[in-house]
Amino acid sequence: MKILRADFILKCDESFEIIKDGAISFDKKILAVDSFENIKKLYKDEEIEYLGEGSVIMPGLINTHLHLEFSSNRISLDYGDFMTWLKSVIEKRDELLNRCEKDNCIKKALDTILESGTTTIGAISSFGDDLKECKDTPLNVVYFTEILGSDPASVDMLFSNFLERLDRAKECESESFIPAISIHSPYSTHPILAKKVLEIAKDEGMLVSTHLLESYAEREWLDRGEGTFLEFLKSFNPHAKPMIRALEYIELFRDNKTLFTHLCYATKEEIDAIFMMGGSITHCPRSNRLLGSRRLEIENLNEFNIATDGLSSNNSLSLWDEMRAFLMLHESLDINLLAKMALRSVTIDAAKALALKKGSLKEGYDSDFIVLNLHESIDDISKIALMLLLFTKDASQVFIDGKRLK
Ligand SMILES: [Zn+2]
Repeated sequence: MKILRADFILKCDESFEIIKDGAISFDKKILAVDSFENIKKLYKDEEIEYLGEGSVIMPGLINTHLHLEFSSNRISLDYGDFMTWLKSVIEKRDELLNRCEKDNCIKKALDTILESGTTTIGAISSFGDDLKECKDTPLNVVYFTEILGSDPASVDMLFSNFLERLDRAKECESESFIPAISIHSPYSTHPILAKKVLEIAKDEGMLVSTHLLESYAEREWLDRGEGTFLEFLKSFNPHAKPMIRALEYIELFRDNKTLFTHLCYATKEEIDAIFMMGGSITHCPRSNRLLGSRRLEIENLNEFNIATDGLSSNNSLSLWDEMRAFLMLHESLDINLLAKMALRSVTIDAAKALALKKGSLKEGYDSDFIVLNLHESIDDISKIALMLLLFTKDASQVFIDGKRLK
């Protein structure tokens, strides 16, 4: 057992309690979180390590949605418009994947994620190229093996390829590596395939992730079979038609615990349907901005998780960078309130979306937490969330499972 004392402890619980001059006792699990006075009474003879002026302890951050396989991208892809970007991804895909393998970019990406203070990720894996690194990293990984493919003639082949990748992921299962399933999107995945893999997810109790209504092009295509998607898909299939409507697509996930990502162009009815079935919404502010999507109207959402998406549509995998972008994007809301929402979204709410006993500093929860430093003390604790967001680049210390990794 170990005990740490900090000037502030952000529990990131339901009431977003902040303890001034607090302490935490822990081993693999959190034993107690309270004021320094109370912890001192509880453990009379134990040594307590003080982390210094302006120190903060909070849960490790949880990035529910990223793609590691494109981590070699810096300036290869085209931004500003979703279809332009998609075409550039298809054109540069092999080059990016090869470069990534050569440069060991997945391992490097995971190291920077840990350095920043993220302790759990939801990794969407399209090819299985990131499996070894995700198994070996000290981070907690929910590993979403992804299926994609709209050509009915290839459904069997795609499904067996998916099963093969899923089996390999299942062989790696451990306390810190949780296999899960991703269905790419309604425009790219045939409903037959989607239904088949959702059945597996249901039988095996696996989480599911999917992209939905990221761009205006997708909205137009799903609603009316028109727009730039039609032009694009015609080049593969002259008779291309939308395979499913958005609301019907959401209905497919009724019996699965699902994370829906983007939703920039979703209607109120679609958002309500997601929440009604216990689904969660992942918000990727920088990715949406770079691909020319409109702002997700978070004013209408009870809950969401901020995530980075991959380096194919972002300039870093840091949730601090993402939360700063989030602060700047949603100008209609009070800045201190937004900062609190941001921190909740990458701790307690993200843990809920991934069904993990993490993301809050509570007795019995996993000892995944980080130490940050504001370098000076503040009297007004209501400012802490915003100040952390403005000034944190990396965590000073990172603990996973009670072990100090940084
Ligand atoms: Zn994504």
